[in-house]
Amino acid sequence: MKNYKIINGTILTYGGEAMMTEEKTLYIKEGKITFEPFAQGEEYEVIDAGRKLIMPGLINMHTHAYMTMMRNYADDVPFQEWLFQRVMPVEDNLPVEAAYWTSMLGILEMIRTGTTCFTDMHMYHRQVTQAAREAGIRAYIGRGLVGEDLYQDGYSRFKQALEEKEEFQSDTLQFILSPHAIYTCSEKLLKQVDEAAGEHRMLKQIHLSESMTELNDCLNNHGKTPVQYLNDIGFLDEKTILAHCVQMQGDDLDIIRNTGATIVTNVASNAKLGNGIAPLSQMKEMGINVCVGTDGAASNNTLNMFREMGLLSLMHKAHTRDCLAIPSDYIVKAATYNGSVALHNPDIGVIREGAVADLIFLNLDAPSLFPNNNILSALCYSANGSEVESVMINGKFVMRDRQLLTIDQERVYYEVGKIVEKNL
Ligand SMILES: [Zn+2]
Repeated sequence: MKNYKIINGTILTYGGEAMMTEEKTLYIKEGKITFEPFAQGEEYEVIDAGRKLIMPGLINMHTHAYMTMMRNYADDVPFQEWLFQRVMPVEDNLPVEAAYWTSMLGILEMIRTGTTCFTDMHMYHRQVTQAAREAGIRAYIGRGLVGEDLYQDGYSRFKQALEEKEEFQSDTLQFILSPHAIYTCSEKLLKQVDEAAGEHRMLKQIHLSESMTELNDCLNNHGKTPVQYLNDIGFLDEKTILAHCVQMQGDDLDIIRNTGATIVTNVASNAKLGNGIAPLSQMKEMGINVCVGTDGAASNNTLNMFREMGLLSLMHKAHTRDCLAIPSDYIVKAATYNGSVALHNPDIGVIREGAVADLIFLNLDAPSLFPNNNILSALCYSANGSEVESVMINGKFVMRDRQLLTIDQERVYYEVGKIVEKNL
């Protein structure tokens, strides 16, 4: 494995209390970050990172990479129609092999825009995993689970999820359990998932309180909110990742905080599907671990985390009529460090001695970043992802000077083009 000495760069990371920048030489040794110079005789490449910002790669905590083929396909339709009449029929008919290429397209976009780790919820056996492995991106892959009984209706999916874990688990690939939502999974299945997660030591991820329909149906069917419902069946704990959490009522946020679960906020998807704006300022005030996710390209319509970070701050400032509501340092930390908390992996999302080298290099002379009056502001309010020049994951470059090293972009476009022609 190649070692690197990176000089003259500006480093941005979470320093334990705040985001901070400093000029420091970084050493990448055996895929890990160190500040200790190499010993005599050790081989390494010197990288001059003058006028580059080096920061932890962004962690996209909720997406569906394979859905990238549906970018701009089902827009301006209500959530229920979007999901049940537009998205699900395509998913049901999509040949399994196609999901490899459509996932690769999503991964390609993520790498180009500075994401080094993503949490996925998918419907296809192995394809996302294979794409992630070949691209060299870090991923927490969740097999989407639906139905009545994990060991009957959903049996093959669950079995496949465990097989996939067995076959592919590695330094960069981890596996989680992803029941889709409370309205597509029975109470029995959710309890079984919770037990299975404990038994197999896996994290759980679910869409929760996304739409008003979900909230109202849950109130009608169970006499409680989706958060109360999940809590009452014992599903919520510090290993639970909750996507959306838009329709928060009463003591919902107290419950989430008390269980230690993480919320992934998906501001663009929630806005685009007309689901509203999550109460992010309250989540922030209450000290809930909040991460950032793009959701899939069918509902966003991009997997670009910089766009998500900008929207997140601006939408909440507008919504709360408070320009201090969500500051840029909070957003950058949410998009990096908080992901490591949610994923129980302290070695990602931060630049420190011994952390894995998941790094992105941004051009500080890019028109959108120059002059560099305030780097944290720049990352939220003026960056658009095109400033990302190089991406290193687990100590290996997957993009260098805008050249993708692990993905053949032309081939991916060709294959996805063919899939779209046949399936949309
Ligand atoms: Zn989703």
